[in-house]
Amino acid sequence: MEAKKSIYIIDINDITSKNDSLNYTIDKEFFSSFENDEVLDANCDVKILIEKSNNSTKFDLTIEGTLSVQCDRCLEEVIFPIDFYTVIYVKSTSEIEENTWNDNGEDEILWVNPNNATIDFKQYIYDSLMLSLPMQRTHGNENIGEQECNSDILKLITFVEEKEEEEE
Ligand SMILES: [Zn+2]
Repeated sequence: MEAKKSIYIIDINDITSKNDSLNYTIDKEFFSSFENDEVLDANCDVKILIEKSNNSTKFDLTIEGTLSVQCDRCLEEVIFPIDFYTVIYVKSTSEIEENTWNDNGEDEILWVNPNNATIDFKQYIYDSLMLSLPMQRTHGNENIGEQECNSDILKLITFVEEKEEEEE
């Protein structure tokens, strides 16, 4: 086990100033560390603005950039823009043992025990990015502009499918 503390795990007790910020760059390696080979390439900037008040710590999180995955149709790489924004409030209470997520409809609230007042942004960023990918991962998706399927491969797929039908 590596003793070095992850840069993504933030201890609320360590935040001493009222306003602070965090920046991360998400690349392919980030996804490899989750053993995710679905994401072929990644280039995202994460900006987190921190605002500490008496009863909570507010994290203003923005993720912008691109993720590349395999096109469901032509199997070539397709690049999706990522534009994710959320606000997380971390509040502490000794009434709970384990960190608990709560959703009030608009903002997300993470309740933490004062003795273990940490938030792991690695898992959070990973989940947010995976959820940002559309269900239909194909070229021609309305969110991605001018990218188109590889027409040679499409022709080939259609040819093989027709051939299979003939043989049936
Ligand atoms: Zn395609």
